[in-house]
Parts: sequence; C-alpha cells; structure tokens
Amino acid sequence: MAKIVCVLYDDPVDGYPASYAHDAAPDISVYPDGQTAANPKAIDFVPGQLLGSVSGELGLRKFLEGQGHTLVVTSDKGGEGCELEKHLHDADIVISQPFWPAYLTRERIAKAPKLKLALTAGIGSDHVDLQAAMECGITVAEITYCNSISVAEHVVMMILGLVRNYIPSYQWVVKGGWNIADCAARSYDLEGMAVGTIAAGRIGLAVLRRLKPFDFKLHYTDRHRLAPEIERELNLTFHPNVESMIRVCDVVTVNCPLHPETEHMFDDAMLAKMKRGAYIVNTARGKICDRDAIARALESGQLAGYAGDVWFPQPAPQDHPWRSMPHHGMTPHISGTSLSAQVRYAAGVREVLECWFEGRAIRDEYLVVDGGKLAGVGAHSYSKGDATGGSEEAVRFRKTA
Ligand code: NDP
Repeated sequence: MAKIVCVLYDDPVDGYPASYAHDAAPDISVYPDGQTAANPKAIDFVPGQLLGSVSGELGLRKFLEGQGHTLVVTSDKGGEGCELEKHLHDADIVISQPFWPAYLTRERIAKAPKLKLALTAGIGSDHVDLQAAMECGITVAEITYCNSISVAEHVVMMILGLVRNYIPSYQWVVKGGWNIADCAARSYDLEGMAVGTIAAGRIGLAVLRRLKPFDFKLHYTDRHRLAPEIERELNLTFHPNVESMIRVCDVVTVNCPLHPETEHMFDDAMLAKMKRGAYIVNTARGKICDRDAIARALESGQLAGYAGDVWFPQPAPQDHPWRSMPHHGMTPHISGTSLSAQVRYAAGVREVLECWFEGRAIRDEYLVVDGGKLAGVGAHSYSKGDATGGSEEAVRFRKTA
C-alpha cells in the first residue's frame, strides 16, 4: 500500500466555504486541440467546490483510503521539520500544486528514498528538481491543458488592466475621489499596439486568439513554429528569438515553462532592449524574470507596467519587491486555480493515480520525466537541469491572517 503526501494551499481565512457564487462549474470535456479532458473512472468531489485547499483534499481521500493507501494532506511545506519533510522518508507519491509549490529539491529527494511519482496538480513542474528526478528514477507528471485557458483569460485581463490603468483608477473610487486626470494620465487604448508572446504553446496560442479581436499587431517567438494556416488566420509575425520580438512590442506576455534555458530570461540587458514604456505580463513563472531588474525597470520608466501571478519563491516573502514596486498589477498565483480549473486538475490527478495503481500507462501528454529522462510534454517543452535553486527563501513568508 502506498503513502501519498499531498501539499495544498490553506483554506480561506474565514473558513472552508459553506456556499458558492455558482451552483456548478462548466463541463469542459475536450480542449481546443482535440485533447480530451481528464476522464477518471469516478470522482468523489462536487465540481465547482473548492478542491485545491487543504480541506478540499483534491477529492482524493475516499478513493485512496478505500484502496488501503495512506493520504497525508498538509499546507506546511517550508523549512526543515515542516510536515512535508516529516513524511518524506516513507512517501511513495508527492502531489503538489504550482500555486503553493512543495519544492522537491535534490536535498529533499535524497530524504525520500521510496519516492516514485511527483505529480503536479496543474501545469509546470519546475518546483521539482527534474535533473535529480531523472537520476533517481522518479516519474514526474502534470495535468497538461487543465488550466491553460484559465491562464489565457487572466493574461488578457492583466493586459487590459495595465494598459488602460484599471487598478489605480479603481483605487481612486475606493478612496472617494473623482480624479479623472490622475486616471487618464497613464491610460491608453490597446488598439494599434503590438503584442508578442514568448511561446505559443497551449496558453500562448490561446492568448493570441483572444487578443485578435482587439486589433493588436500580433507577434510570437517559440522553439517550434506554428502551422502556416494558424499564422495566416491570426496574421502573426514570427520571430526566431526573444530579442527580435521584444524590440518591436508594446506588450510582452510570457508563456513558456521555467527551465534552465528560460531562467532569468528578462534581466537588465534584455529589458534594455525593449521599447521604452513597454508592459510585461508574466503568468508563466516568476523566475523567468530577474526580480530586481523588473523593479528597477519600473522605477526608471523603461517598463510602464508589470503584472502576473507568478513569483519566486512562492509564497513570496513580505519584503519581495514585486509587492511594492510602482505600476504593478500582481496577484498571488491564482490564474490556474479558478474553481473551474480545479475540477479539471482534480480529475486529472485522479486519472493519473488510477493508472499508477492499476499499472496502466499515464498519458504521454502528462509525462514530464519518465524512465530517467525527459518524456512526453517534458521532452517537448522543458530542458534538462534544475530550476529550484533559492526556493528555500519561501520559508521567510509569514501569514498575515
Ligand atoms: P505548453 O507546453 O503548451 O507550452 C509551452 C510552450 O513553451 C511550448 O510551445 C514550448 O515550445 C515553449 N518553449 C519552451 N521553452 C522555450 C524557450 N526557451 N523559448 C521559447 N519558447 C519555449 O504549456 P502551457 O502553454 O499550457 O503552459 C506554459 C507554462 O505556463 C507552464 O509551463 C507553466 O509554467 C505556466 N502555467 C502557469 C499557470 C498559472 O496558474 N499561472 C497555470 C498553467 C501553466 P515547444 O514545445 O515548441 O518546444
């Protein structure tokens, strides 16, 4: 029988919800490229309820305990002696979410001799030292596509919010003001601007499709070029590298995974190559940007705005400069954990676990590492190595409520 350790974010400060704004979540069974959504044999949760926090347990307890397995659910994941570390020595499976990542560094993997599966309830497995996972024969899998559209919607919201100066304008209302000039002095139309995405995978392409009606000029760069008919349909300009694209863009949206090739892609030198007054929306991973270089660029005016929901480390300590830098529109890491998305990733986790315990193959599209090498989606989108360095800083976060 297996021991499964599941690291989830805390319940709401006022308690696990007793009621919800909607009675159900939409049922999405097929994604835009034809991939089917997760299809486990059964689920033990109510779609539309909060599954990603500790009390939600991803709807796994009945299923796992019914088969005689042990399930430990905790949000305590930082520093030596935390609940996660106490259970590593005999854990067979660790489940984690990118929103509240259980960083599985090489040191932690060494403390987990029985660990065979690191499962991401979401997309993006950079919180696992993939190099160490390859060397130790640990399978790493994620629920590809489960929340890609959720993130694309968030990106569009953040681009609109930054360019049209929504958050400061909202704050004037809350403060009792009617300060039209203050609001208008940093507000522009999107129409006619050039926007570019770093990567046109599931999220990047969905962002481009959603931005098309705004009459943006659309640009992209990626390791693999899109099909010519998609380029024509969206009137896309392809760039062979990031530098070429950012020179011409007013808005840059970052939609590639974090791996050694993309870590700190936006440093002082890269930011200096952008148009003065450009905006960045990064919902991919915080570490793709150099933390202090972003803050400096906002202070100097090289960037007009920065928004996103991803930080490094997570949770971000109270003194993380992205909490206080000018002209930002940051949220905690939430874009991929809407109640709608939770249905799909909880079902995906269940599907993977059913396969694992029944000895059936996990879908290739979910695999990141398998058999000691990058596999499936991992072989396509990641590079070898480790991007977890510095994650121990997350322990400096202190709960405020
Ligand atoms: P996909 O795998 O569909 O797309 C990733 C794309 O990035 C691929 O097209 C890949 O190229 C491209 N890519 C990889 N490395 C580079 C590089 N060095 N330069 C340019 N392009 C590169 O994944 P998704 O679109 O679904 O998700 C992307 C990322 O978004 C995730 O890895 C995760 O980090 C983040 N994410 C964030 C969420 C949130 O809640 N904020 C939720 C979900 C995802 P190719 O495959 O052609 O080699």
